[in-house]
This record gives sequence, C-alpha cells and structure tokens, in this order.
Amino acid sequence: MTDITSMPTSNTNSRTLIWFRSDLRVEDNTALQAAAAFSNPVVACFVITPEQWREHDMSPIKARFIYENLICLQQSLLDKCIPLKIITVATFDLLPKTLLSLCQSCEVTQLFANHEYGVNEKQRDYQCERLLSDSGIGCHFFHDQTVMAPGAVTKSDSTPYKVFTPFSKQWRKLTHWPPGVAANIKPQVMPAIKPDKIDKQLFNLGPHPAIAWQAGEEAAHKKLQAFATQAMGDYRQHRDLPALEGTSSLSPYLAIGVLSPRQCLKVAYDSLQGANPLAEEGIQCWINEIIWRDFYIHILDFFPHVSRHQAFKIKTENLPWRYDEKDFQRWCSGQTGIPIIDAAMRQLVETGWMHNRLRMVTAMFLSKNLFIDWRWGERFFMQHLIDGFLASNNGGWQWSASTGTDSVPYFRVFNPTTQGQRFDTEGEFIRRFVPEIQHLNNKEIHEPPLDLFSSASYPTPMVDLSLSRKTAIQHFKSLE
Ligand SMILES: Cc1cc2nc3c(=O)[nH]c(=O)nc-3n(C[C@H](O)[C@H](O)[C@H](O)COP(=O)(O)OP(=O)(O)OC[C@H]3O[C@@H](n4cnc5c(N)ncnc54)[C@H](O)[C@@H]3O)c2cc1C
Repeated sequence: MTDITSMPTSNTNSRTLIWFRSDLRVEDNTALQAAAAFSNPVVACFVITPEQWREHDMSPIKARFIYENLICLQQSLLDKCIPLKIITVATFDLLPKTLLSLCQSCEVTQLFANHEYGVNEKQRDYQCERLLSDSGIGCHFFHDQTVMAPGAVTKSDSTPYKVFTPFSKQWRKLTHWPPGVAANIKPQVMPAIKPDKIDKQLFNLGPHPAIAWQAGEEAAHKKLQAFATQAMGDYRQHRDLPALEGTSSLSPYLAIGVLSPRQCLKVAYDSLQGANPLAEEGIQCWINEIIWRDFYIHILDFFPHVSRHQAFKIKTENLPWRYDEKDFQRWCSGQTGIPIIDAAMRQLVETGWMHNRLRMVTAMFLSKNLFIDWRWGERFFMQHLIDGFLASNNGGWQWSASTGTDSVPYFRVFNPTTQGQRFDTEGEFIRRFVPEIQHLNNKEIHEPPLDLFSSASYPTPMVDLSLSRKTAIQHFKSLE
C-alpha cells in the first residue's frame, strides 16, 4: 500500500489514472481522493472481464447492477471532468498489456486504485504493477474496502484474530469516532479524452430477476438515511424476522462499493446522538454487522486458502461430504418439503437476495442435514445473489458448515422447522414464497399435514431432520 506522504510530488503535467473496481462511487473513495490530490487532470477506467466473472460465479443480476451503477458513476465523474474509459478483456491474465496501452494512449504516468483481497485479484494487481512499473508508470494501492485496514486489527503478538468477539472489541477500541468520511473532490480540468460508451451486452451473463434496487450513490444514500430514521433503532428486535423489512438491504451497494462502510458508520454514529437506550442497542447491533464485514475481509486477506475453495479448518477437508445432484437440485429449487427452507431458496432465485437468518438456516440445512459439500451451496449463492461478496459469502458458508473461523460449533445444528416457527411465527414469509401451502393454518404451515403430500401439491420432507442431524454430528465427532 502506498502511503500518501511517500507518493511522488504532484505534477500538473502528468495525468493519473483511477482504476475503479469494487468501489463504484465518487464520494469517500480513498484512491480517487489521492489521485485528484496528486494531479489534475484525472482519467478513470473500469475493466470488464466476462470470462473471469463467470469463473468467479458472478451472478447475472450482480453484473447487471454493476452496469447500471457504472452508468451513474460515469455521469458523476463527468461532473468532476473525469472521463471514464472501459477496458474489456476475457480474464485477468490478459489485462496488464491492455492496461499499459490505455496508460500510454492517455499519457498517464501514475495509476491509483483501491485494494481487493481475493487471491486472483491480488495476483492481477501484482502482474499489472510489475508491467506498469517497468514502463515507468507509478502504481499506488489503498485500503478502502473496510473501516479498519487488514493488518490494523491484530492480537498483541501481531497475529490475526480468528474469533469475532475479541476482534470486534479491539476494532471498536481502535476505530476513530466519529468515523471519518473523505471530503468530496473538486471538479478537475477536463482532459482531451472522450469517455467510452458502456456496452450493455458485455454485462449480459444470463437471465436474472428484476432488480429491486435503484442504481447510483444518491439512491444508496437515500436508502441508508431511510433505514437510519425508520428502522435502525429497532434493528435488534426486527433483524431476524424475514417477513419484515427489519434490515437495511444495503448489501448490494456495499458489495460493489456504491456505498463505503465508513459512510454507513458515520450515519450510525449520527443516529446514536440523542438515541434512547433501546434505539442505541439497535444501532450498536447494526454497527456489529459492519464489523462482521470487516472481520471476514481481514480473514480473506490473512488466510488466502479460503479464497481457493479450501476450508479454513483444514481437518474438515476429511469429512465425507455428499455430492448428490438430485438432492442438491431440490434444495436449489425450493422443493425440499421443509417450508422455511423452500421459501428462502425461492426468495433467492426470484429476487437475487436472501434474508441473513435464512442464509444461515438454508446453509446449515444443506451442509448438515443433507451433508452436501458447503462449496456447492457457496457457488449457488454467488451465482444468484445481487450482493455476492467473496469474503462474506465464504465466511457465512464456512460459519454454517462449521469448517470456518469462529464457526458455529458442529453440534449446534439449527432445526429449520423450529427456526421457521420462531422467526416466521405466523408463516407470513412462507406464504409469500410458497403459495401452494398458503391456505394452511399457522401451525401446519411449518409442518404441512401428511394428507397434503398425497395430493402432490407440495413435496414430502426430503430428509429426517433428527436422524440427519445425528449423522452429521457423528461425522464431525470422528474428526476429533
Ligand atoms: C451463508 C451466508 C452467505 C452470505 N453471503 C453474503 C454475500 O455474498 N454478500 C454479503 O454482503 N453478505 C453475505 N452474507 C451476510 C449477510 O447475510 C448479508 O450481508 C445480509 O443479509 C445483507 O442484508 P442487509 O444489507 O439487510 O444487512 P444488514 O443486517 O442491514 O447489515 C448491514 C451490512 O452489514 C454487512 N453484514 C451483515 N451481516 C453480515 C455478516 N454475517 N457477515 C458479513 N457482513 C455482514 C453487510 O454488508 C450488510 O449490508 C452471508 C451470510 C451467510 C450466513
């Protein structure tokens, strides 16, 4: 990472290139801020990598949301006199040469970008930096994706935390309050470079559900503010109830960086001022979720094997996971015969988003009751989520499968039926997504009566919950 104080002194004859990746915003963007402070004019670029995206299981809905946000970003950048150029290469390995050509054609001498922490992304940046440096172009990378930079929250012996609670305590101790948000950059001098047209076809990874999120920083901030005034204070009581809009639904914006976690924290901090004790609890509880996000990014950075499809706890690689395509398809399509699981999986496929409580319940059902390799579920989530985010998705899956850092103990297996009864007591959420059983009463909706199955309108439960739970625990026990 380049420290701003160690950067070459600003030069009005040189141009800088700001490379946008998962930070699609103009406000509070560390690399953009540094680029604008360093030289004027500034040129921007974004790289489309369709094959790489496919390899990384990027969902069509997320690709489309990136496209819509790029259109907004291009306009916001133009307002600052920064033209956005688009590079298209199939995969990361083809990028360095193309990026160098862009730098040369735009007469750029310095490149600025914010870090990304997946193994392939780090390798990509290393290769680009090597080629560009050899050609005399300086490269400057910044930590921006988290509130606290990876490496900034460690144990006293400088090793990384592997457990969330002590990490969060140290994080709260070290985080500066009120959280800092960078001032907006001033308009630059317009260079004689035309912005590129953004080709929608290149984002067309396949059919997807309609997008319920409006693109752009302004829309994201509106949603954040609305959540702060209407629901943040009740977050603690409402966050586990999928039938309510009790959580922020900001994850699609955070995943591609239309919002920064610092901006979220700043609004939470402002809401804390004058909040009553109950609301304060809710706000603190929400801040904790932003810390979970930081935690999983720190894990991804410190333990790169998790982004290579490996379990955090290596010994769990010896578990006899099942690879049953038919059972997996029943889970994917919401036909398991367990109403809360089916409602959740249909929510994912039909909307591109799933409530957090249900992500845990469905992930645990797949990895414990069906004992199917959690990596199959992790991929399916990435392929459908609008907010697919490697660090959090991998962290959430490994937590649920008890293979990860600070994961749920293997003997604590959620019973999905009980979870449904507890968090969707009146079956409102189930009725929304599983209409074929909406006529059942509030008790039956969680455990449909057997005569319903014989009418074939809804499948019989595909697995005995109690027996499969015992078998999973036995498999984990045998590792000890
Ligand atoms: C199996 C599984 C897979 C998941 N996959 C993803 C994913 O691909 N992308 C993703 O952003 N989140 C993922 N999560 C975390 C969490 O479910 C979502 O962030 C949350 O549901 C998003 O809804 P929200 O914006 O309303 O969250 P809120 O409850 O309003 O929380 C605010 C923000 O905090 C962050 N956050 C909340 N909970 C978590 C968490 N447990 N871990 C990390 N960050 C969190 C998110 O950025 C979220 O937008 C996953 C969780 C599980 C259990």
